[in-house]
Amino acid sequence: MLDLDFHPTGRHFLQIPGPSPVPDRILRAMSLPTIDHRGPEFGALGRKVLAGIRDIFKTKHPVVIYPASGTGAWEAALVNTLSAGDLVLMVETGHFASLWQKMAMRLGLETEFLVMPGNDLLLPEAPHWRRGIDADVIEARLRKDGARNIKAVCVMHNETSTGVVCDIAAVRRAIDAAGHPALLMVDSISGLASADLRHDEWGIDVTIGGSQKGMMMPPGIGFNALSPRALEAAKTATLPRVFWAWDDILAMNVDGYFPSTPNTNLLYALNESLDMLLGEGLDNVFARHQRWAAGVRAGVAAWGLPIQCADPACHSPVLTGVMMPPGVDADAVRKLIHRRFDLSLGMGLGKVKGRMFRIGHLGDSNDLTLLAALAGCEMGLELMGVKLEGSGVQAAMDYFASHEAAAAGAAAATATGHPERSEGSLRAA
Ligand code: PLP
Repeated sequence: MLDLDFHPTGRHFLQIPGPSPVPDRILRAMSLPTIDHRGPEFGALGRKVLAGIRDIFKTKHPVVIYPASGTGAWEAALVNTLSAGDLVLMVETGHFASLWQKMAMRLGLETEFLVMPGNDLLLPEAPHWRRGIDADVIEARLRKDGARNIKAVCVMHNETSTGVVCDIAAVRRAIDAAGHPALLMVDSISGLASADLRHDEWGIDVTIGGSQKGMMMPPGIGFNALSPRALEAAKTATLPRVFWAWDDILAMNVDGYFPSTPNTNLLYALNESLDMLLGEGLDNVFARHQRWAAGVRAGVAAWGLPIQCADPACHSPVLTGVMMPPGVDADAVRKLIHRRFDLSLGMGLGKVKGRMFRIGHLGDSNDLTLLAALAGCEMGLELMGVKLEGSGVQAAMDYFASHEAAAAGAAAATATGHPERSEGSLRAA
């Protein structure tokens, strides 16, 4: 028998940037019995989560829920809106942008993969992927596309491989300034419910999300938030799709049901997650992540190590990438920290493999779990012989002690207009 409780004493420190630590409240919700997905109770659950998830994306339009990881939701966005040979403009912000671009090519789309100025330097102190998106570059490219060959602009909201957050509103302005009809598709798999995101206000046509990051749920749900233009594009798009087809799903969603068997227990988790996040209020949720990120960055700065994101305006509220001094293998540091201190950190991916590790500050975390994570990093770095300028733990303690968290809970829920969203509110749906 395989013993799945790998950590007999204390909790494992899951500080990767997703999957994030899942609150007990969500784990408990998932343990309810699985119900008939065609029965009346399921319809109530379906209607409630389908309505609530719109608030998370800040949209009045439909959000499609898939029993899939983020990769599936990426594919769904492309196959529902595009046809073979369509040209898609993408931006190389990091590893996940690169994976999405490869997927687009494999689906038979043409892609143009923009590299932003300063993001492809091979100098040791300024390697790849340290910057966000320069919307002017997108605007200039769209202006040159007189024939309107570009059908979609696909960008990352929060690039999980680097800890860079991109200004999506600026990308929208760039598309509008160029007067270009391309659809705007945004991967917010790791931005959702952690970094400010406004699907309708920012004119996004498809926002892609996942369950396992800011939603604080286990992996297994992918989202597509839609716009009327995206729905219109789906009527003429010809890439083959069956499981991912929006029309079949949306038709059944009207009554809270799904065409194929849904992941019922993850929908319980989603229901609980919505109650928690909307009860806290999204502005409080965003402020909480910003504060955690600032505390962790204070720690990294005290060590004297560079942060992967070189532009403070693009620092991610979700994770921080920590660059290693030349000659230090970040994966060896990570492995030692995992073995000695039961702390998981995100690895460097793709072009930054072995050069940096990532500290996730999302999910069921708090000041003290983050301080513990920094302590694990600090001990591990020292054991690996990395010379640190000072104590990151002390710097983060100073930051957290002097920056009080915003009030959360019931008062915030009332202030943000979600007083009805409290534990067990499914019955009221
Ligand atoms: N996009 C981003 C920004 C991600 O962080 C991830 C996964 O971490 C993916 C896409 C791929 O999602 P998944 O691994 O859930 O399929």
